[in-house]
Amino acid sequence: MDTATPDNTIKKNSPGTRAGISTHSELNSQLNDQLNQLPSGDNIIECLTCGACNSRCTWFDGQGGPLPRQMVRMAALGLDQALVEGQMLWDCLICNRCTEGCPMGIRMDMVVRKGRNLAIAAGQIPPDIQKGIKSRLETGDVNGLTKEEFVETVEWVSEEFVDEVDDPKAEIPHDIAGSKFLYLPNPRELGINLLHLTAMGKLFYAMKESWTMSSFHTDVTNWGYFVGNNQIAQQIARMVVEPAEKLGIETLVLSECGHGYHVLKYLLPELIGRKPAFTVMSIPELALEYARKGVLKFDPSIHPYKIAYHDPCNIARKSGGYDPPRELLALCCDGVAELIPSREDGVCCGGGGGILQDSTTNKKRMVSGKYKAEQMKATGLNHLATVCLSCHRQLGELSKHFKLEIKVDTVASLASACLVL
Ligand code: SF4
Ligand code: SF4
Repeated sequence: MDTATPDNTIKKNSPGTRAGISTHSELNSQLNDQLNQLPSGDNIIECLTCGACNSRCTWFDGQGGPLPRQMVRMAALGLDQALVEGQMLWDCLICNRCTEGCPMGIRMDMVVRKGRNLAIAAGQIPPDIQKGIKSRLETGDVNGLTKEEFVETVEWVSEEFVDEVDDPKAEIPHDIAGSKFLYLPNPRELGINLLHLTAMGKLFYAMKESWTMSSFHTDVTNWGYFVGNNQIAQQIARMVVEPAEKLGIETLVLSECGHGYHVLKYLLPELIGRKPAFTVMSIPELALEYARKGVLKFDPSIHPYKIAYHDPCNIARKSGGYDPPRELLALCCDGVAELIPSREDGVCCGGGGGILQDSTTNKKRMVSGKYKAEQMKATGLNHLATVCLSCHRQLGELSKHFKLEIKVDTVASLASACLVL
């Protein structure tokens, strides 16, 4: 990889310069060539080196973590190789909290994802992420669950589901063409968290609408997004869209997943080059819609306490999904408490950007999540909810590690638990 010495000479209005500063083409760096292409957002050449991003990053504390200004400067100076061989690109949670404070609007998720894509080309990718992508492309599931195993699992959950709702005709359906809704699960719902799938089944059951899952069981995640590789992200997106369109569904309903939501709800047309033939909603959004219509009713006395709410970065800061989860949660308990800060200034759980999916980071995640743990403790509450199963896992582990004694749930599972059937 070319790491030509950067030309820092200030030139006035000479060709190939912008505001008198030498441009990427003169630096002959791949990362610089790929950045500086949007009207705004990834133009690292605009960086003022002010350091506001560093002060907004809650991860770095001397025990590791990214330094956003340093990443931007390294990219701007053509130090691709050093950046790609270092750890910062993979430590970054792609949470964009630093971006909120950047006077030039430089989107750190774009910078880091483009850097990671170069790292992959150089063979630098966490083995777990590489393995998950391979399984996903081969089987449709990051854990490598085959179509047969999927059917076996869903049919087993379906048998239990009959007792759960006390209705011999109830089921967790799969591959039913013409269904109104297709539920796209999180891989954890087909493995260690089958109870969550049962809970989501209960919500669909109470909506009294046709729904199905697909044995082309493309899951809600898209690790191509984490690693910044558009080709992989597009391939995974098509694996979701094609079976869904074949089934002729109206709405693709996403499991609680932060990056899955951001990618499928906001980036899908760009990834597949057209609008899909269905609308996209998350399961909490759908449950709220049916609650507003008066179809779903909840008994908040089942959860007679205040619950703090954690904003997943991909759903809140990156997608603007601040209010629907809070509104649904408020119907299911004795009030919603805010973590401080929250919303636009919300702090990542410490497991974002693919770090949670890398099993070598278990200790590190207790450092990247330390600020979040302090926020949780400051609420003085014993309950916390969120709308992302990855955040859910990380927050639960933080609670245990820091002895917070806070029970962590997802909003949709709390809604399901207090449904009035
Ligand atoms: S906040 Fe923006 S302009 Fe300031 S150093 Fe960071 S990337 Fe550069
Ligand atoms: S972890 Fe978040 S705040 Fe820190 S550099 Fe990455 S995107 Fe920015």
